[in-house]
Amino acid sequence: MANHPDRARLQTLHETLHRYAHQYYVLDEPTVPDAEYDRLFQELQALEAAHPEWVTPDSPTQRVGGKPLDQFASVRHAVPMLSIRTETDTEASGAQNFDARVRKELVLAETDPPVEYVAELKFDGLAMNLRYEQGVLVQAATRGDGETGEDVTQNIRTIGQIPLRLSTEAPAVLEVRGEVYMRRDDFEALNERQRARIAAGEKGEKTFVNPRNAAAGAVRQLDPGIAAQRPLSFFAYGLGEVTPVEQGGPAFGTHYDMLQTLKHWGFPVAALVAIANGAPELVAYHQRIGQTRDQLPFDIDGVVYKVNSLALQQRLGFVSREPRWAVAHKYPAQEQMTTVLGIDIQVGRTGKLTPVAKLAPVFVGGVTVTNATLHNEDEARRKDVRIGDTVVVRRAGDVIPEVVSVVLPAETVERGAEFTMPRICPVCGSAAVREEGEADYRCTGGLFCSAQRKQAILHFAHRRAVEVEGLGDKLVEQMVDAGIVKTLPDLYRLGFTALAALDRMAEKSAQNIVDALEKSKQTTLPRFLFGLGIRHVGESTAKALARHFGKLDAIMDATVEQLLEVADVGPIVAESIHTFFAQAHNREVVEQLRACGLTWEEGEPAVQVPKPLTGKTFVLTGTFPTLGRDQAKDLLEAAGAKVSGSVSKKTDYVVAGAEAGSKLEKAQMLGVAVIDEAAMLALLQAPPQ
Ligand code: NAD
Repeated sequence: MANHPDRARLQTLHETLHRYAHQYYVLDEPTVPDAEYDRLFQELQALEAAHPEWVTPDSPTQRVGGKPLDQFASVRHAVPMLSIRTETDTEASGAQNFDARVRKELVLAETDPPVEYVAELKFDGLAMNLRYEQGVLVQAATRGDGETGEDVTQNIRTIGQIPLRLSTEAPAVLEVRGEVYMRRDDFEALNERQRARIAAGEKGEKTFVNPRNAAAGAVRQLDPGIAAQRPLSFFAYGLGEVTPVEQGGPAFGTHYDMLQTLKHWGFPVAALVAIANGAPELVAYHQRIGQTRDQLPFDIDGVVYKVNSLALQQRLGFVSREPRWAVAHKYPAQEQMTTVLGIDIQVGRTGKLTPVAKLAPVFVGGVTVTNATLHNEDEARRKDVRIGDTVVVRRAGDVIPEVVSVVLPAETVERGAEFTMPRICPVCGSAAVREEGEADYRCTGGLFCSAQRKQAILHFAHRRAVEVEGLGDKLVEQMVDAGIVKTLPDLYRLGFTALAALDRMAEKSAQNIVDALEKSKQTTLPRFLFGLGIRHVGESTAKALARHFGKLDAIMDATVEQLLEVADVGPIVAESIHTFFAQAHNREVVEQLRACGLTWEEGEPAVQVPKPLTGKTFVLTGTFPTLGRDQAKDLLEAAGAKVSGSVSKKTDYVVAGAEAGSKLEKAQMLGVAVIDEAAMLALLQAPPQ
């Protein structure tokens, strides 16, 4: 038996999984994506199912997490922190199998009513046990190996969402279990700061591979000062030790009631928790959350189903390291391994050169990905991505796919050459330069560079700029490559014949473009300004400039000092606007566009009258009964308000329409005022404050 080939495979799986688990749980430095770990884990489970006599207590299938680090004081859990069985089958059968198992264990007949479950999100962070004694947070501990965790109280105290003191209703001893996680936007911002630090030459800094890894790193940070700079969040989902009912502790009948009570005691509980009766409702929940997963502000890797009745939970009990009454039902992974086929350089609208890995197609985050950004030269070199490498690719939410790390094989292999950024633009051959303190190389070709020209035209034609309906990237590419559009005004000189002569251009489509161009001539000053693509001038700056100066000529002739008087315009932006209009060719483009018939209403310079909503920040979410999202934004901005994309403590109002999602949830969590469209319209009428 010792020579059984499966036995050798079992040994290899043990070693590999132990190594991966150590890197993941103990070092916070996973080297392979979860999907790869899960694949090997299931292979081991299948082997053990076929040969139950081979299961040993040290098998990765029998263990929870990893050994706690010595640097932290260890905490022996009063109630072990377990794992959850995973249903990797991402189809409906994942939920159906679980329900069938529960019914079998409870010896239910087909005619018995459906089992009541609670369906929750499976947050991708790390488990935490928060211990309160007499209502005061006395200890926070990681799961560790399930029996013993690490004392990370100092770091956990920095998480604003975790109450340090509870109301007097809370029991004398209360252990709340939940997930510490990092929101995606906090993660992106953290990595952005990390990249800037690395670019500035700060030693020992690194970027994080995903929000889970960043959260785990922050929680297990030895310096609470650093932990405090890493924004973490928390969701509660369970209990550990609690004062027993006989000694005055709380009596809960169901898991759902317990969650509601936790919320009442001041813990954040996800709003998307639902009661589900039987398998069909679990399946529906899995599908519903799967559809909105990308829009959630944080990563989830699945949903969790739990039997709702605590009495039934007790009857079902546990099997080795997991409860029988719960299961995790996964979604397609957001990280996968694939091979780098090449590294291309993309040229953006402002000439920024971005290295992009061309990948062997891989299904990740629900789509097939063939390109992933490497951000810039420093990042590509730091991660040491080379052609031919196996890499981990991440795609979560609507963030563009990126290469997070290289998976090096255990043995030494011949690798491709180290990546270097070309010193000339790969499209136009102009010099590419990297300015001091900047992470990016830029092509100096300006509008001479056809790549920049294409992007500039697309930007000008964008829905939120002058809007030329139907002018998409394929068509712009054709126009520029055919040499019929060199500058923005050329668009308006094209005419039907030149358009219809383009390859694959039907007469009807050519006429539509001509009509769309004609329509775009009637525009507004902010749209026109934004469309010019001046570096650092986004939509809101364009609006602020238009409001402040009233007329385009006034903006074009403004000094840096005058530009600085505009709200929201700082020195870098002012300098950029001034430099743009100081260049003769840019002024020429503006003049020619005017000559082509582009017009907008000009106003008088703004007299600084207070507006009803000056200084107020709004966030819009959901579908409104009468107004489009853009319309609502325009109305609010015209009334002096700022409209932001994400909810924070600084948000004054969240305007919520139908199907409002995570932003509403966040607002409720932070106690931000939530109003509907009608209330927003009423605020717009209010006299200035
Ligand atoms: P698990 O799959 O056993 O699930 C239990 C954990 O789920 C809990 O500890 C808790 O932290 C979390 N959770 C999130 N939402 C929850 C909710 N609503 N209710 C209850 N629990 C909830 O977790 P695990 O053992 O920490 O991790 C297994 C995961 O770790 C797998 O996805 C695996 O791929 C990954 N992993 C990856 C590597 C790697 O090398 N990449 C190595 C080891 C483990």
